[in-house]
Amino acid sequence: MDTLVEKGTQMIREAQKVLVFTGAGLSTESGIPDFRSPGGVWEKYDPSELSFDRFLSNEKARETYWQMSTEFYETMKDAIPNRAHLSIKKIEDMGKLLTIVTQNVDRLHHKAGNSPEKIIEIHGTLFSVSCLNCGKKYEREAIETLLKSGIKAPSCDDCSGILKPDTVSFGQAMPEDKMRQATMYAGECDLCIVLGSSLVVYPAASIPVHASQNGAKLIIINRDETPLDSGADIVVHESVSEVLGQMVEI
Ligand code: ZN
Repeated sequence: MDTLVEKGTQMIREAQKVLVFTGAGLSTESGIPDFRSPGGVWEKYDPSELSFDRFLSNEKARETYWQMSTEFYETMKDAIPNRAHLSIKKIEDMGKLLTIVTQNVDRLHHKAGNSPEKIIEIHGTLFSVSCLNCGKKYEREAIETLLKSGIKAPSCDDCSGILKPDTVSFGQAMPEDKMRQATMYAGECDLCIVLGSSLVVYPAASIPVHASQNGAKLIIINRDETPLDSGADIVVHESVSEVLGQMVEI
C-alpha cells in the first residue's frame, strides 16, 4: 500500500492536467449512504414507478418522486466534504486540475471550495429545481418549504408547469452539453483519477475509458473492483479519503 501511495504521489506530481472522476463511494465517507446499497432509500421505492415518463404523465408518480427526492436531499443537505474532497481541492490549488466529472448530486465538491466552472455534474444536482416547461430555476430550500406546507408535487409559479429536481432520472437523457464537455476533457487530460465509482453506470463510465484510451494514466481508488482495474496504472481497494489524502499529502 505504501508503495502504491508513493507511486500515486509521483504520478500526481508529474501530471499537468488531471481529470478527477467521482462517484457515490466518495460521499459515503461524508455520511451520505450509497443509494444502491442494501437498506438505502432506493429499496423503499420501485424504480419503474420513478421513471421520467411516469413523472411526466402521472400526478401520483410525481408525488412519490418528490417524497423520495426529499429523503435524498435530507441526507445530503448538511453533509460536509471529507478528506478526499479536500484533496481534490488541493489538486486544484496546485494548478493541476483540468476538471471534476462527478456522478454525485450532493454539491460536496462545491462545498470543498473547488471552482464551480471546474465541476461537471453529469447526473445533475439535488440542490436546484427547474420548471420543465419554461425553464425557471428555483432554490431547493424554497421548494422544500412548499412541500412541508402540504403541497405534494409543486408547480411553476410563472407558468404552472411541472417542477422537477435538477437530477437525471431513469429514462431521462443525460445532459448532452455536459457529456460533450466531459468527453472533450477526457481526451485532453494526462491523468485520470477515479474515486469511489464502480464504473458500471453508463454513459458516465465511458469518461475514464475515453481518458485511458487517449493515453492518460489511470488511478482507481474504490472499495470494490471495477471493470477498468486491469487497465489502470494504480488500483487501490481501500478508503478513498485515506488513500487520496496520503497521495496528495494532506
Ligand atoms: Zn414555468
